[in-house]
Order: sequence, then structure tokens, then C-alpha cells
Amino acid sequence: MCGIFGAFNVENASLYTYWGLYTLQHRGQESAGICSTDGENFYLVKKQGLVLEALRKEDLESLKGNAAIGHVRYSTAGDIGGTNAQPILAKTSKGEFAIAHNGNLTNYKILRKELSDGGAVFKYTSDTEVFVHLIDVSEGWVPEGLSLHPNDREFLPHLFDALRKVEGAYSILLLLKDKIIAARDPLGFRPLEIGRHGESWFFSSESVAFDIVGAEFKRELKPGEVLVVDRDGIRSYFPFGDRERKAFCIFEFIYFARPDSYIFGDWVYEVRKRLGRELARELKGKLDVDVVIPVPDSGIVPTIGFSEESGIPMELGLIRNHYVGRSFIEPTQELRDLKVLMKLSPVKPVLNGKRVAIIDDSLVRGTTSRRIVKMLRRAGAKEVHVLIASPPVKFPCFYGIDIPTREELIANRYDIEGIREQIGADGLHYLSVEGMLRAVKGGAKTYCTACFTGDYPTEVDLT
Ligand code: 5GP
Ligand code: MG
Repeated sequence: MCGIFGAFNVENASLYTYWGLYTLQHRGQESAGICSTDGENFYLVKKQGLVLEALRKEDLESLKGNAAIGHVRYSTAGDIGGTNAQPILAKTSKGEFAIAHNGNLTNYKILRKELSDGGAVFKYTSDTEVFVHLIDVSEGWVPEGLSLHPNDREFLPHLFDALRKVEGAYSILLLLKDKIIAARDPLGFRPLEIGRHGESWFFSSESVAFDIVGAEFKRELKPGEVLVVDRDGIRSYFPFGDRERKAFCIFEFIYFARPDSYIFGDWVYEVRKRLGRELARELKGKLDVDVVIPVPDSGIVPTIGFSEESGIPMELGLIRNHYVGRSFIEPTQELRDLKVLMKLSPVKPVLNGKRVAIIDDSLVRGTTSRRIVKMLRRAGAKEVHVLIASPPVKFPCFYGIDIPTREELIANRYDIEGIREQIGADGLHYLSVEGMLRAVKGGAKTYCTACFTGDYPTEVDLT
């Protein structure tokens, strides 16, 4: 998982990109980087750490020019350490450019092997570099009947050629000396939004970053769209036509995106509230508690919906320490456990002597729920029920969400009753897949629900 941001035709583009990345920090905390251009040279800074730590004042001053792209990276399994920071800046036979990528390619191992066998030398282990080598060796491809603007005839056929070879999830930004190119895979797994301020153009994984940089949200890049912006304006191409099947990652709505973002044509806040409402509907008559308590932060919005629909009052029985980052990202179980304790603490007067239900957005390994149940009992709660505003996570994600192995997923090893026992709760209820789909617009053929259903929208290697 990652966040990407771009600014074109903006004075101090790198500063805007910095603020954009800062806003997208929740999408990746491992590394941050910006590449800019003044039309002659490229400037690149990328380092490990949070945006605030990785990119200093001196760095921003060195990132000259009126166009920039940036990236925040979330480490996925087996690849901890900063060498895969982005953007990647590459000199190829088709010119120099930088690329920033959100998503995960599902056929990259095959492509990487083919390219390596053909003589390509890979510098990094991330899938993103495949784009660079595919472009480098491309002989160009333009679908029949598609005519290119004169400015696009040189580079775009090579990008199209690369895109037709990759499979899986990509929302990408490419920075060339005179343009930014944005592209989104034909299934549209990851969001990519377009913003504008006068003659300046912005791109962002989530719309919320436009509010921060003072740009107006225009629209989302469409699945399969390749959009070019240069001094002559913007041009949009659909080299792969329009497919009926889409695969917007439903987990973006459930957990990943910020609630103040508008993605996939909907407000994340409103979807989360509806997830809570649907859960309340499914539990009508099955739950007798005094109070519902959100697990901050991502459980808050579904709890509002749940409380409204069920009439059960909501209280903030858990307070979050904002100086502790997201707990999921810690590489070992002990560190994750410790961090949950550091991160959340109980509000005793809200809990003492009460029958409570906590509501979280999702349950993956069970770490968070197990800790919280214990914590609430210690704080005096009489009963602790756990409600999850999404279905059991049973399958790994191959498209960029950090759900790495089946063994680690608690819902793979136990049935609901078994999970309840494991987390020590008095009751455990999940939202159904149908309930989840009722909370979003468009239905099953619009979303990727693979982590819940195992219904992968592309071919994946499950071995
Ligand atoms: P668990 O603690 O059960 O392993 O994971 C569930 C908790 O982690 C929930 O509180 C949810 O908000 C959060 N979570 C779910 N998926 C992700 C993810 O991909 N990354 C991070 N950082 N947190 C997640
Ligand atoms: Mg959480």
C-alpha cells in the first residue's frame, strides 16, 4: 500500500507535493520521496521514515522546478528496509523519467524473469521497476484506431506497451521533463484523483490532499485511463477500451482511506457509516448491551452509523494516543502487541459495570481485539462484545493491502466461535458480505472483495 501525489505547472511544486504526501501519510509510513523537474534536470530525494522526518527543508529547496511527483511507501511482507523507496528515477532508451506507483502487480515475477533473461539489470526488489524496464525495451504499441496528439507520439506508445503487459493493481504517476502522465489499471483497484487550481494540475491517491493544497477536486481517473498533462493542456486515452468488470478495492472504504476523502465516486465517511448501519440491521434483536464503543480511529465512523440505526448510545470508551503510529505495521507480533497497549487506553467511568460492545472496522490477526477485550474487562466492563463492520478476512491480498499469508489470518484458522474464544469476547459478530455490498454503490462486479470472498478479479498464484 502506498500514497502518490503529483503537481504540474505549480511554482514550488515540491512543496505542494510535500503537503500532499503529508496528508497521505496514513497510506505509508516506511519511506517518503519526491522527484521534481525544472524542464532540464531531475531532482530526487527519497528516504526512510515519515514525511516529516524524511524530507527536510534543505531537501525541498533542492527539489527545484514546477512539476513534481511524490510517494509514501508502506512496507509489505518480506521487504522491510528503505531500499525500495520511490519515486524511481530512470534513464532509459526512451528518455529519462520518474515513476511512483500505488498497487501491486500480480505477474511481476514472471515479467522480471523475462526482462532479466533479456539482459535487464534490476536495482530494487519492488515490482514498480518492471515498468521502467518494460518501457526501456519496448518497441511501442498503439491500439488500432487510437490517434495520439503530436506531443504524445514519442513516449506514450512505449508506456501503452508496458501497461498491456502488466497485470494487477497500478495507479501510477510518471514525471517527464515536460509532462506528468497518470494511469490507472483497467480494473481500477486503487484510487487516483485529479485536482485543479487555475492552470495547475494535481494528482492524489485521495481527494483529501486537494483540500490541503488549495486545489479543487475535478474527478477520479477512470479505470484504464491514461492521462497526460503538459503545457498544451490535458489529454485522456483509453488504450484498453472499457471493461464491464471493475475491481475497486473495498478495503479502501473499510480501512485504508481517510474518512474525509472522496474516492471511487463516494465519500469514505458515508460508506463507513452505512457499514455500521448495515451491521446494526443484521444484529437487530441479537445484541443486548448498554453502550457501543468505537475502536479509534477507523472504528469511529461505523460506530456512529451503528448507534444511529440501533439506538444504542455511543461513548468514547477508548482514547487513542496520537503519538503512536498505526500498530499493524510493526514487523513482529510482540511489537504489535506492545504498541496496541501504548496506543489505546480505557475510559473507566464509561466502562465500569457496563455491558459494552466495541466496534472495529476489521479483524485481521486478532491482535487489536484481543488486547482491547482484556483492557476493557480490567477497566470494569461486565460484558465485552466485539462487532466488526466488515466480513472475516480470510484470503491474502495480491493487490497492495498488507494481508500477507493465510496462516496469519485468524479467520482462516478458526470459525466465528473459535475466534470469539481466541479474543476472549462474550460475543463476536461480523458484517456479512451482502451487508458490506449494500453499503457501497455499484454491487459485486464493481469491487474487489477478494480478501473476504477469495474471488480474485485477476489470475493469482495461490501456492
Ligand atoms: P488485527 O489487530 O486484528 O490484526 O487487525 C485489525 C486492526 O488493524 C483494526 O483495528 C484495523 O483498523 C487495523 N487494520 C486492518 N487492516 C490493516 C492494514 O492493512 N494496515 C494497518 N496498518 N492496519 C490495519
Ligand atoms: Mg484500527
